[in-house]
Amino acid sequence: MTFRTRFAPSPTGFLHIGGARTALFCHLYARHLGGEWLLRIEDTDQERSTPEAVAAIFAGLNWLGLHPDGEPVFQSKNQARHLAAAHQLLAMGKAYRCYCTREELESMRSEQREKKEKPRYDGRCARRVDFSGIADRPYVIRFKTPPEGKTTWEDLIQGSISFANTELDDLILVRSDGLPTYNLAVVVDDHDMGITHVIRGEDHISNTPRQIPLFQALGWSVPLYAHMPLLHGADGAKLSKRHGAVSVLNYRENGFLPEAVNNYLVRLGWSHGEQEIFTMAEMESLFDIRDVGRSAAIFNQSKLEWLNGHHIRSSRQDRLAVVLVDHLRLIGIENPDLTLVAAVVPLFQERAKTMVEMAEKARFFFVEDVRPYDMKAIEKYCKPDLLPALAHLITELATLTEWQDSFLQAAFDRTLQAHDLKMGQLAQPVRIALTGTPVSPGIHEVVLVLGQQKSLHRLQAGLAFFQESIHGVS
Ligand code: GLU
Repeated sequence: MTFRTRFAPSPTGFLHIGGARTALFCHLYARHLGGEWLLRIEDTDQERSTPEAVAAIFAGLNWLGLHPDGEPVFQSKNQARHLAAAHQLLAMGKAYRCYCTREELESMRSEQREKKEKPRYDGRCARRVDFSGIADRPYVIRFKTPPEGKTTWEDLIQGSISFANTELDDLILVRSDGLPTYNLAVVVDDHDMGITHVIRGEDHISNTPRQIPLFQALGWSVPLYAHMPLLHGADGAKLSKRHGAVSVLNYRENGFLPEAVNNYLVRLGWSHGEQEIFTMAEMESLFDIRDVGRSAAIFNQSKLEWLNGHHIRSSRQDRLAVVLVDHLRLIGIENPDLTLVAAVVPLFQERAKTMVEMAEKARFFFVEDVRPYDMKAIEKYCKPDLLPALAHLITELATLTEWQDSFLQAAFDRTLQAHDLKMGQLAQPVRIALTGTPVSPGIHEVVLVLGQQKSLHRLQAGLAFFQESIHGVS
């Protein structure tokens, strides 16, 4: 039997980070077992499904590098098949038409409540013999749920789960508007797609005892089920917008690398000894759905950032340059010089936790003018007695014929010596002039990447500004 699972999102919004985790687990387990995973877009709710949401699912999966096997299946296209299955059940006497009106159903339920019984459909239309007067009424098709016994399955994550059939209503398979219901559609599609394993969120556990009897009634083999614990925020509540970003693409906007997000998601509920950092290849070879834990997974933003920092450090620089270009654009650097981007990446790669942080810190390289300067820093570091040294440094740098580290070093040394200063004293005014702020990578690295002309231009503008502001203050 070929292992085959599916990821079956409903396209009613963005791709939720919890959904991405389900897709990742489907992908990993399929790759682990040498099987397949398919994508099924559950778009039968025409009012809530939108093409934008379908596009967001594709974009989110694509960004994460989770590529399903084969073409995506659109559930709405299979409606005729779903209805055929309902009619097959009718023909087999395993389903029936129910003509009860809303009023009838309501009075049935209120009687049951009065008798302290659980409100449920009492199956009266299954027993009905006389259809006179009602045959032209709208009807639904209901499944004859086995009246007794239990529906049990060995969940690959949750262990043995059992529901008494008396707990289950006679499930509606086709609504009075003629459309198939969710549980029918899922069962027919899972069968037609040859799904052997269903991996989904534990919010679907209550659907499983409705779906298994349908497979059985249709004479189809029942897949194995793995219901994954849901994601919770640090406060213990189900992860929602209130906790911050929940759409996968928000993580891209917020400067996370897809491999860091995948690594983070796999560790939510799954572990392999003490190991925290995984490449996709390692996850694919080690992941087993049966090792996923049962307790709710708590989302932890600082761990995600830590992992992202790690993956930034171990990423190829040419690849980071491509990502950095996108983030520079998002902060208003329309057409960053690509050679400059490539030169800048190594300066930030070791420390950046996110690509947004890298773009913000690298921004000064790409602007024409670093102003406004950090005025507090100017007050603190640009003392009047340092300004002649800054002027001297400019002259030294202007005369350099080669823009190389050893030459720069010599120019700084000559300046410091002439003014009896330490690099620690001159570094900050230089840094503020070059970047606008007192925090940046090493001065030599910055001037090397900026080049002679830009460095001199910034130092001169900075010196003029410091002279003026110090003059203004005194
Ligand atoms: N469409 C359902 C959802 O988005 C998933 C159904 C399933 O996996 O069976 O929650």
